[in-house]
Amino acid sequence: MTHGIVFDIRKFSLHDGPGIRTTVFLKGCGLRCVWCHNPESQSPRPELILYPERCIGCEACLEACPEGAIQRAEDGRLITSAERCTRCGECLDVCYAEARAFAGETMTVEQVMAEVQRDAAFYEESGGGVTFSGGEPLAQPDFLLELLQACRARGLHTTLDTCGYAAEATLNRVRPFVDLFLFDLKVMDDDRHRAATGVSNAPIQRNLRLLAAHGHRVIVRVPIIPGYTDDEANIRQIGAFASKIGLTQVDILPYHRLANDKYTRLNRPNPLPDLTPPTETRLAEIKHTLESYSLQVRVGG
Ligand code: SF4
Ligand code: SF4
Repeated sequence: MTHGIVFDIRKFSLHDGPGIRTTVFLKGCGLRCVWCHNPESQSPRPELILYPERCIGCEACLEACPEGAIQRAEDGRLITSAERCTRCGECLDVCYAEARAFAGETMTVEQVMAEVQRDAAFYEESGGGVTFSGGEPLAQPDFLLELLQACRARGLHTTLDTCGYAAEATLNRVRPFVDLFLFDLKVMDDDRHRAATGVSNAPIQRNLRLLAAHGHRVIVRVPIIPGYTDDEANIRQIGAFASKIGLTQVDILPYHRLANDKYTRLNRPNPLPDLTPPTETRLAEIKHTLESYSLQVRVGG
């Protein structure tokens, strides 16, 4: 049975495609965007998440950890060493306060589809369906392909929320089973893209061209990150590119700070702890700029 790593299944989602949807979040991503709002999605493996506010101080986890990765600091807090932790899960088994958890669990295609199928009546009524997001769903191509095929066999509308960073052959395998692509375009200059995400944007732009050339339904999504993606030159390049390859719809997604807490829970430094969201004025200007390329633009998607 094909299986993969899923880190969340969100029901009744209204922002990941048309109608009421179930969004399945697959773990693993080839990019390391400094503004990532799902840092728990990046690693392909399950990761330890900490909820110190639930901790009752019983120290069962200290005794259970075979690596000695958990220690009590002088100020009384429990510290878990990211270097020593092997993600064995022993500490989770003994923590009855549920102060420790894993982001990501192994699921089979059948298990995911059983979850998805529960809300089939809502999809039908609302014109909704199933969205695969991440992380980057294309990073688990066999699992994703079987999930998409299972949705197609059940007549469920499919949306793929992707950063577009994948081999062309991978995209070609899955695209016949995708009804709508939500495709991220972040930074058009390659050097700036590498600095902000760790990878070149060449395969991303190639894949977007490919989808457009084959007539797929695509909504471009632009995260508006002050100092990284929001400058006029970048917005104009995105508008010109999308328009030139025949796309018509763009969603602009303003940066938010909801992920700050996630970095703490993952025991990881936040690369941009002080970044503030874009102003309403700047968002309106960006919308106006993109509309000047004959694109339909929504704020927030
Ligand atoms: S087992 Fe859970 S509740 Fe007990 S000390 Fe460890 S984290 Fe806290
Ligand atoms: S998951 Fe990490 S912290 Fe928990 S017991 Fe295993 S090695 Fe120790």
